[in-house]
Amino acid sequence: MQHKAIFTIDVEDWFHAGVMQPYLKRQNGSPMHRLTDNLKWLSDFLAKHEGKATFFALSSLTPVVLRQLASLAAQGHEIASHGHTHTNLNQLSSAALQAELLQSRSILEQATAAPVIGFRAPNFSITDQALELLQETGYAYDSSLNNVRLHKGYGRLQQHALHPKPYLIREGLWEMPLSTYPLASWNLPVAGGAFLRHLPFALFQQAALKLASQGYYHFYLHPWEVDLAHPRVPGMRLLDQMRHYRNISKVPQRLDVLAQKLVFGSISEELSRQKVNQRPG
Ligand SMILES: [Zn+2]
Repeated sequence: MQHKAIFTIDVEDWFHAGVMQPYLKRQNGSPMHRLTDNLKWLSDFLAKHEGKATFFALSSLTPVVLRQLASLAAQGHEIASHGHTHTNLNQLSSAALQAELLQSRSILEQATAAPVIGFRAPNFSITDQALELLQETGYAYDSSLNNVRLHKGYGRLQQHALHPKPYLIREGLWEMPLSTYPLASWNLPVAGGAFLRHLPFALFQQAALKLASQGYYHFYLHPWEVDLAHPRVPGMRLLDQMRHYRNISKVPQRLDVLAQKLVFGSISEELSRQKVNQRPG
């Protein structure tokens, strides 16, 4: 039996990655856009496997990408917000964050003619204060909690699940956390992204399937992680190069293996199931 898994994508180009920022400042000219091709690849991949996904998109992307998002929404995928400027939330004032939340939802809803109810903070930089603003600005869920202790830049919440499953933060606002797998005293980061490329795949796959069989597995990646041909930036430190480029060539095949064993769906579908289960009687 194939178990369900949530599939989410942070819709941004390769040059939005945090690790690239110090190097790109030294470059002349604007970086090459690759997102359109990468989104097309992901859209075809999901169609091939009859899966659905949630696309957390920056609202500052090009009109071409916004039109692609509209097409994805029309195909039954969910479009949600990844903010407008890709600034970590602890670097935004309350007023600036509130403006981004309203602006990104408005742009994405206009572009796709579909409701935007979810948010993912850039670099998982969620805070308790941001959750309050999310609810005030009309969002129904956050999906920014990635409880990986070895990554100190990721946000923490007062109320969080040690072993991630969806939970109601307060009436009207859900948290849909990224998956981790308990191993000895570690929370193994098995939600994807860089860890799909860096962890031994046999271990990654085993943990993903086990979590899915227990009722909740949440996977994510960036479009550039399926793009072997995106630009190499000169002068990058070896560690940063490895972090960004290592094992990209293996991602398509690893995704195929996961897609053959799991049924991918969006967060909004999972949220509907959670709400039904929560109903009394
Ligand atoms: Zn991002």
